[in-house]
Amino acid sequence: MKIHYLILPVICSVLFSGFYAGCGHGVLVRKLEYNAVTDNYRTYYEIFVGAFSDSNNDGIGDLRGLINRLDYLNDGNPDSLNSLGIEGIWLMPVMPSPSYHKYDVTDYCRIDRQYGTMDDFDELIGECDKRGIKLIIDLVLNHTSSQHPWFLKAREAVKTGDMDDTYARYYVLETEKISGKAWYEFEKTPDGIQYYYEGNFSPSMPELDLDNPDVLREISDIVKFWLDKGVGGFRLDAVKFYYLDEDIKNIIFLKWLNEECRKNYDEVYIVAENWSGDISIQNYYEAVNCFDFGMSGTSGDIYFAAQQIAGITEFAEDLAFYQKQVLEKNPRAVLNPFISNHDMDRAAGFLSVDDRAMQMAANLYILSSGSPFIYYGEEIGMKGSRGTASTDANRRLAMLWGDGDTVKDPRGSTYNSNNQTNGTVKSQSPDRDSLLNHYKNLIRLRNANPEIARGIIEPLNFSQYTSFGGFISNYSGSKAAVFHNTGETELKVDLSLYTDINFSVIRGYAGKGQAALNGGILSISGYTSAVIK
Ligand code: CA
Repeated sequence: MKIHYLILPVICSVLFSGFYAGCGHGVLVRKLEYNAVTDNYRTYYEIFVGAFSDSNNDGIGDLRGLINRLDYLNDGNPDSLNSLGIEGIWLMPVMPSPSYHKYDVTDYCRIDRQYGTMDDFDELIGECDKRGIKLIIDLVLNHTSSQHPWFLKAREAVKTGDMDDTYARYYVLETEKISGKAWYEFEKTPDGIQYYYEGNFSPSMPELDLDNPDVLREISDIVKFWLDKGVGGFRLDAVKFYYLDEDIKNIIFLKWLNEECRKNYDEVYIVAENWSGDISIQNYYEAVNCFDFGMSGTSGDIYFAAQQIAGITEFAEDLAFYQKQVLEKNPRAVLNPFISNHDMDRAAGFLSVDDRAMQMAANLYILSSGSPFIYYGEEIGMKGSRGTASTDANRRLAMLWGDGDTVKDPRGSTYNSNNQTNGTVKSQSPDRDSLLNHYKNLIRLRNANPEIARGIIEPLNFSQYTSFGGFISNYSGSKAAVFHNTGETELKVDLSLYTDINFSVIRGYAGKGQAALNGGILSISGYTSAVIK
């Protein structure tokens, strides 16, 4: 955490003509300007409620626990440096479900009892509103739980041979197993005809028939219910499974869903999980925003750049190309970069728990276009990988508050979260150089420069450097530039050799060292990123 804003104490700029020469190093400098984000370019925070914070000592995180922790995420005071400073929250599913992860829903318009009540949820929305946080919730439309009343009624209907039953028609039922999809035995009719249901995730997740107008009416009612409540949008689970690997049909459905949501709420934020290659994701952007999976994980752009496997020039070129492709599909599109999520090994593990790599990875995606998503605990370097036990529960371990929170690791996990720590919120908070404080300042640096999230990316060619590079972000004619030095060595770079723009002001820097700009020469320490204008 060493971000120093232009707005250093006035005395410094009086005493020194150069930026920060001799002052400011290692000192947290508060910014004078802060752009509270009110549009759809926000830093989001993904929360698995069950592992986040427990308010009633039953070991399971709940909504009241989250409400109690909101000040940690955003205390509503833009001048405060006590909060992480996110302006968006994605809640993994909160609806009633028999599973610990709740991706198999039994009632789309209620709150799971383990997480609390609808009153708690309403209070959470109110508290988020006070803080300017947009709350989006996970919506699982591909399948229900096999315990959903619709499916139970469908089962009874098949048993009586009533295949025209309303609920039998909610699901994809066939008398033979069609190849390429997963089918499970359902029931036999009185005539002895065996029916199978489609369930590509698991037998407990029967797939809805999204061609059925009655199902569409249900979905329309569900999104209206939550939007009327004040939810700011949805994270759509598993959209490529809606019609398994039929992108065109999925996109048509998503366009319909997007229109349903926007009927009364134009600012709704929808982001879809299409865990696919770039080209497929770019096509889905025609309908809705998508997570940029190509940035994430151990084969993603962020990892390659942070670990110096790829150069920053390549990173910037990839980013610009991707953005261009997406904006051609939809001029309103917002990119959604991230390092990892609840279905992936945590970044602190694959970044070798190297503090420098974690800071640089954070710089690469937070100082990027669009709305970045932080997976809870990423900001303190929490670990957790599928491991030899091969369970996703290891990726969803208890948040490490370090202050006696009673939340426990989820059922089925084999890691002990207490042994998987680079520190806790409590231990990192007072440490100026901690990853947590790095994230706090990084988000502020991003927000103080609205060009970064909103602009058109123009990559700069520094291909002779292996670990240095950057891009210009042009937002309605206002240009800012972001530079990253992922290597160890301090560099002095004459920017006039690479761009005609006369950048003259350091807006801030983040990482292990410092940056300065004098006469067009950028000086930047190793493991440091800088924003200039
Ligand atoms: Ca609880």
